[in-house]
Amino acid sequence: MKIIDPHIHVSARTTDDYEAMAAAGIVAVIEPAFWLGQPRTSVGTFQDYYSSLVGFERFRAAQFGIRHYCTIGLNSKEANNVPLAEEVMEILPLYLAKEGVVAVGEIGFDDMTDAEERFLREQIILAQQVELPVMIHTPHRNKKQGTQRSMDIAEELGVPPHMVVIDHNNEETVQEVLDRGFWAAFTIYPKTKMGNERMVEVVRKFGSERIIVDSSADWGVSDPLAVPKTAKLMIDRGIPQKDVELTCYGNALAAYGQSGQFNEEDWLNPPAIDQRNLFSGNSVLRGQEPRVDTNDSEQLIS
Ligand SMILES: [Zn+2]
Repeated sequence: MKIIDPHIHVSARTTDDYEAMAAAGIVAVIEPAFWLGQPRTSVGTFQDYYSSLVGFERFRAAQFGIRHYCTIGLNSKEANNVPLAEEVMEILPLYLAKEGVVAVGEIGFDDMTDAEERFLREQIILAQQVELPVMIHTPHRNKKQGTQRSMDIAEELGVPPHMVVIDHNNEETVQEVLDRGFWAAFTIYPKTKMGNERMVEVVRKFGSERIIVDSSADWGVSDPLAVPKTAKLMIDRGIPQKDVELTCYGNALAAYGQSGQFNEEDWLNPPAIDQRNLFSGNSVLRGQEPRVDTNDSEQLIS
Protein backbone atom coordinates (compact mmCIF):
# COMPACT_ATOMS: atom_id res chain seq x y z
CA MET A 1 0.00 0.00 0.00
CA LYS A 2 1.24 3.49 -0.90
CA ILE A 3 1.32 6.05 1.90
CA ILE A 4 1.67 9.84 2.06
CA ASP A 5 2.74 11.60 5.25
CA PRO A 6 1.30 15.06 4.61
CA HIS A 7 2.78 16.72 7.70
CA ILE A 8 6.33 15.84 8.73
CA HIS A 9 9.27 18.11 9.57
CA VAL A 10 11.60 15.71 7.93
CA SER A 11 14.61 18.03 7.74
CA ALA A 12 14.85 17.42 11.50
CA ARG A 13 15.13 13.66 10.90
CA THR A 14 17.95 11.36 9.83
CA THR A 15 18.64 9.39 6.66
CA ASP A 16 17.79 6.23 8.64
CA ASP A 17 14.30 7.66 9.04
CA TYR A 18 14.04 8.24 5.30
CA GLU A 19 15.10 4.64 4.64
CA ALA A 20 12.60 3.26 7.15
CA MET A 21 9.83 5.48 5.78
CA ALA A 22 10.43 4.34 2.20
CA ALA A 23 10.51 0.70 3.34
CA ALA A 24 7.18 1.22 5.13
CA GLY A 25 5.52 2.42 1.93
CA ILE A 26 5.79 6.21 2.23
CA VAL A 27 6.09 7.56 -1.30
CA ALA A 28 5.68 11.29 -0.64
CA VAL A 29 5.90 13.73 2.25
CA ILE A 30 4.82 17.31 2.84
CA GLU A 31 7.05 19.36 5.12
CA PRO A 32 5.32 22.43 6.53
CA ALA A 33 7.44 25.43 7.42
CA PHE A 34 7.37 25.91 11.18
CA TRP A 35 9.51 27.13 14.05
CA LEU A 36 12.83 25.57 14.96
CA GLY A 37 12.45 25.21 18.73
CA GLN A 38 13.83 28.66 19.40
CA PRO A 39 12.89 31.99 17.86
CA ARG A 40 14.61 33.22 14.73
CA THR A 41 16.16 36.66 15.01
CA SER A 42 16.21 37.93 11.43
CA VAL A 43 14.40 37.54 8.15
CA GLY A 44 17.52 36.02 6.62
CA THR A 45 17.15 32.88 8.67
CA PHE A 46 13.58 32.45 7.42
CA GLN A 47 14.88 32.91 3.90
CA ASP A 48 17.54 30.23 4.27
CA TYR A 49 15.06 27.86 5.91
CA TYR A 50 12.48 28.26 3.14
CA SER A 51 15.26 27.80 0.57
CA SER A 52 16.30 24.53 2.21
CA LEU A 53 12.68 23.27 2.13
CA VAL A 54 12.40 23.83 -1.61
CA GLY A 55 16.04 22.92 -2.26
CA PHE A 56 18.33 20.60 -0.37
CA GLU A 57 15.63 18.72 1.55
CA ARG A 58 13.79 17.95 -1.67
CA PHE A 59 17.03 16.56 -3.06
CA ARG A 60 17.85 14.63 0.13
CA ALA A 61 14.46 12.91 0.22
CA ALA A 62 14.74 11.91 -3.43
CA GLN A 63 18.10 10.28 -2.65
CA PHE A 64 16.13 7.82 -0.51
CA GLY A 65 13.24 7.33 -2.93
CA ILE A 66 10.74 9.74 -1.35
CA ARG A 67 9.15 12.73 -3.12
CA HIS A 68 9.33 15.83 -0.93
CA TYR A 69 6.92 18.78 -1.03
CA CYS A 70 6.47 21.61 1.41
CA THR A 71 4.21 24.35 2.62
CA ILE A 72 5.53 27.86 3.18
CA GLY A 73 4.25 30.18 5.86
CA LEU A 74 4.93 32.17 9.00
CA ASN A 75 4.22 29.94 12.00
CA SER A 76 1.99 31.12 14.81
CA LYS A 77 4.65 31.36 17.52
CA GLU A 78 6.86 33.64 15.46
CA ALA A 79 3.89 35.75 14.37
CA ASN A 80 4.22 37.34 17.80
CA ASN A 81 7.43 39.13 16.84
CA VAL A 82 5.53 41.70 14.80
CA PRO A 83 8.38 43.68 13.20
CA LEU A 84 10.06 40.45 12.07
CA ALA A 85 6.75 38.92 10.99
CA GLU A 86 6.12 41.91 8.75
CA GLU A 87 9.45 41.33 7.03
CA VAL A 88 8.67 37.63 6.61
CA MET A 89 5.32 38.44 4.99
CA GLU A 90 7.21 40.32 2.30
CA ILE A 91 9.30 37.34 1.24
CA LEU A 92 6.50 34.73 1.35
CA PRO A 93 5.16 35.31 -2.20
CA LEU A 94 8.59 34.53 -3.66
CA TYR A 95 8.72 31.13 -1.97
CA LEU A 96 5.06 30.30 -2.51
CA ALA A 97 5.75 30.38 -6.24
CA LYS A 98 8.47 27.71 -6.06
CA GLU A 99 8.10 24.20 -7.45
CA GLY A 100 6.79 21.67 -4.93
CA VAL A 101 5.07 24.20 -2.65
CA VAL A 102 1.61 22.76 -2.08
CA ALA A 103 0.03 25.15 0.46
CA VAL A 104 0.40 28.18 2.70
CA GLY A 105 1.21 26.80 6.14
CA GLU A 106 1.41 25.85 8.79
CA ILE A 107 -0.34 28.95 10.08
CA GLY A 108 -2.87 29.50 12.84
CA PHE A 109 -3.03 30.02 16.56
CA ASP A 110 -0.63 29.17 19.37
CA ASP A 111 -1.48 31.50 22.27
CA MET A 112 -4.46 33.09 20.48
CA THR A 113 -2.91 36.56 20.48
CA ASP A 114 -3.92 39.52 18.32
CA ALA A 115 -0.65 39.27 16.38
CA GLU A 116 -1.31 35.61 15.64
CA GLU A 117 -4.75 36.47 14.34
CA ARG A 118 -3.43 39.31 12.22
CA PHE A 119 -0.87 37.14 10.42
CA LEU A 120 -3.28 34.23 10.11
CA ARG A 121 -5.67 36.53 8.29
CA GLU A 122 -2.97 38.06 6.11
CA GLN A 123 -1.70 34.65 5.10
CA ILE A 124 -5.15 33.30 4.29
CA ILE A 125 -5.65 36.30 2.02
CA LEU A 126 -2.25 35.62 0.46
CA ALA A 127 -3.22 31.97 -0.13
CA GLN A 128 -6.31 33.11 -2.00
CA GLN A 129 -4.21 35.43 -4.15
CA VAL A 130 -1.76 32.70 -5.12
CA GLU A 131 -4.52 30.06 -5.31
CA LEU A 132 -2.99 27.60 -2.88
CA PRO A 133 -4.62 25.51 -0.17
CA VAL A 134 -4.09 26.49 3.48
CA MET A 135 -2.72 24.26 6.24
CA ILE A 136 -3.97 25.39 9.64
CA HIS A 137 -2.15 24.42 12.83
CA THR A 138 -4.55 24.34 15.77
CA PRO A 139 -3.25 25.13 19.27
CA HIS A 140 -2.38 22.46 21.80
CA ARG A 141 -3.98 24.54 24.58
CA ASN A 142 -7.52 25.83 24.02
CA LYS A 143 -7.79 23.34 21.16
CA LYS A 144 -11.52 23.60 20.61
CA GLN A 145 -11.69 27.37 20.82
CA GLY A 146 -8.65 27.81 18.57
CA THR A 147 -10.05 25.41 16.00
CA GLN A 148 -13.41 27.17 15.90
CA ARG A 149 -11.81 30.59 15.68
CA SER A 150 -9.59 29.47 12.77
CA MET A 151 -12.61 28.18 10.87
CA ASP A 152 -14.60 31.35 11.63
CA ILE A 153 -11.79 33.45 10.16
CA ALA A 154 -11.45 31.26 7.05
CA GLU A 155 -15.19 31.50 6.46
CA GLU A 156 -15.24 35.24 7.07
CA LEU A 157 -12.47 35.70 4.49
CA GLY A 158 -14.42 33.63 1.99
CA VAL A 159 -12.01 30.72 1.48
CA PRO A 160 -13.89 27.64 0.32
CA PRO A 161 -13.50 24.99 3.05
CA HIS A 162 -12.21 22.42 0.56
CA MET A 163 -9.10 24.62 0.26
CA VAL A 164 -8.37 24.43 3.99
CA VAL A 165 -6.84 21.56 5.99
CA ILE A 166 -7.42 21.91 9.73
CA ASP A 167 -4.64 19.94 11.42
CA HIS A 168 -4.04 18.43 14.88
CA ASN A 169 -7.70 17.51 15.42
CA ASN A 170 -8.99 15.27 18.18
CA GLU A 171 -12.27 13.59 19.06
CA GLU A 172 -13.65 16.90 20.36
CA THR A 173 -13.05 18.92 17.22
CA VAL A 174 -13.54 16.50 14.33
CA GLN A 175 -17.33 16.58 14.05
CA GLU A 176 -17.54 20.34 13.68
CA VAL A 177 -14.60 20.51 11.26
CA LEU A 178 -16.25 17.93 9.00
CA ASP A 179 -19.69 19.51 9.34
CA ARG A 180 -18.30 22.84 8.20
CA GLY A 181 -16.75 21.21 5.13
CA PHE A 182 -13.03 21.46 5.96
CA TRP A 183 -10.44 18.70 5.71
CA ALA A 184 -9.76 17.23 9.15
CA ALA A 185 -6.16 16.11 9.69
CA PHE A 186 -4.96 14.18 12.73
CA THR A 187 -1.45 14.06 14.09
CA ILE A 188 -0.49 10.73 15.62
CA TYR A 189 1.75 11.30 18.63
CA PRO A 190 3.68 8.31 19.98
CA LYS A 191 2.89 8.79 23.68
CA THR A 192 0.45 11.63 24.27
CA LYS A 193 -2.53 13.30 22.65
CA MET A 194 -3.82 11.40 19.59
CA GLY A 195 -2.41 7.87 19.61
CA ASN A 196 -2.97 5.45 16.78
CA GLU A 197 -5.48 3.35 18.75
CA ARG A 198 -7.63 6.46 19.07
CA MET A 199 -7.21 7.18 15.37
CA VAL A 200 -8.62 3.78 14.47
CA GLU A 201 -11.73 4.57 16.48
CA VAL A 202 -12.08 8.01 14.87
CA VAL A 203 -12.13 6.40 11.42
CA ARG A 204 -14.51 3.71 12.62
CA LYS A 205 -16.88 6.37 13.89
CA PHE A 206 -16.52 9.16 11.31
CA GLY A 207 -15.51 7.18 8.21
CA SER A 208 -12.83 8.32 5.79
CA GLU A 209 -14.33 11.30 4.01
CA ARG A 210 -12.00 14.34 4.36
CA ILE A 211 -10.03 12.71 7.19
CA ILE A 212 -6.23 12.76 6.90
CA VAL A 213 -3.60 11.04 9.07
CA ASP A 214 -0.13 12.54 9.59
CA SER A 215 2.86 12.22 11.94
CA SER A 216 4.02 15.84 12.41
CA ALA A 217 7.32 14.18 13.30
CA ASP A 218 10.02 16.74 14.03
CA TRP A 219 12.93 17.28 16.42
CA GLY A 220 10.70 16.47 19.40
CA VAL A 221 9.35 13.16 20.66
CA SER A 222 7.59 11.90 17.56
CA ASP A 223 7.44 8.97 15.15
CA PRO A 224 8.18 9.29 11.42
CA LEU A 225 6.45 5.93 10.89
CA ALA A 226 3.21 7.01 12.60
CA VAL A 227 1.18 6.96 9.38
CA PRO A 228 2.20 3.47 8.14
CA LYS A 229 1.81 2.08 11.69
CA THR A 230 -1.67 3.57 11.95
CA ALA A 231 -2.58 2.20 8.51
CA LYS A 232 -1.51 -1.27 9.61
CA LEU A 233 -3.42 -1.01 12.87
CA MET A 234 -6.55 0.08 11.02
CA ILE A 235 -6.31 -2.98 8.74
CA ASP A 236 -5.70 -5.26 11.76
CA ARG A 237 -8.76 -3.81 13.51
CA GLY A 238 -11.02 -4.40 10.54
CA ILE A 239 -11.28 -0.93 9.03
CA PRO A 240 -12.08 -1.39 5.31
CA GLN A 241 -9.07 -1.09 2.99
CA LYS A 242 -10.65 1.79 1.08
CA ASP A 243 -10.95 3.87 4.25
CA VAL A 244 -7.32 3.18 5.12
CA GLU A 245 -6.22 4.20 1.63
CA LEU A 246 -8.22 7.42 1.74
CA THR A 247 -7.06 8.52 5.19
CA CYS A 248 -3.41 7.57 4.67
CA TYR A 249 -3.01 8.47 1.00
CA GLY A 250 -5.94 9.54 -1.17
CA ASN A 251 -7.33 12.42 0.85
CA ALA A 252 -3.95 14.12 1.25
CA LEU A 253 -3.46 13.77 -2.49
CA ALA A 254 -6.87 15.32 -3.18
CA ALA A 255 -6.47 18.17 -0.69
CA TYR A 256 -2.96 19.26 -1.62
CA GLY A 257 -3.35 18.23 -5.26
CA GLN A 258 -5.49 21.36 -5.53
CA SER A 259 -2.19 23.26 -5.63
CA GLY A 260 -1.34 21.76 -9.02
CA GLN A 261 2.05 20.89 -7.47
CA PHE A 262 1.27 17.50 -5.93
CA ASN A 263 0.86 14.86 -8.62
CA GLU A 264 0.73 11.11 -8.35
CA GLU A 265 2.85 10.67 -11.49
CA ASP A 266 5.79 12.14 -9.55
CA TRP A 267 6.05 9.00 -7.44
CA LEU A 268 4.43 6.43 -9.70
CA ASN A 269 7.22 6.91 -12.24
CA PRO A 270 10.09 8.34 -10.21
CA PRO A 271 13.63 8.58 -11.50
CA ALA A 272 15.73 5.70 -10.14
CA ILE A 273 17.73 6.46 -7.03
CA ASP A 274 21.25 7.56 -7.88
CA GLN A 275 23.17 8.77 -4.86
CA ARG A 276 26.01 9.90 -7.10
CA ASN A 277 23.85 12.94 -7.86
CA LEU A 278 24.86 16.18 -6.20
CA PHE A 279 23.03 19.25 -4.92
CA SER A 280 25.08 22.41 -5.48
CA GLY A 281 28.14 20.17 -5.49
CA ASN A 282 27.18 18.35 -2.27
CA SER A 283 26.05 14.77 -1.72
CA VAL A 284 24.36 13.02 1.21
CA LEU A 285 27.00 10.32 1.39
CA ARG A 286 29.87 11.41 3.64
CA GLY A 287 32.16 9.08 1.71
CA GLN A 288 29.82 6.06 1.83
CA GLU A 289 29.20 3.89 -1.22
CA PRO A 290 26.41 5.46 -3.29
CA ARG A 291 23.23 3.52 -3.87
CA VAL A 292 22.59 3.38 -7.59
CA ASP A 293 19.43 1.59 -8.69
CA THR A 294 19.92 -0.01 -12.05
CA ASN A 295 16.32 -0.04 -13.29
CA ASP A 296 15.30 2.95 -15.41
CA SER A 297 18.98 3.59 -15.96
CA GLU A 298 18.15 5.92 -18.83
CA GLN A 299 16.58 8.28 -16.31
CA LEU A 300 19.68 8.49 -14.13
CA ILE A 301 20.76 11.75 -15.62
CA SER A 302 17.57 13.60 -14.64
ZN1 LIG B 1 4.00 20.87 12.24
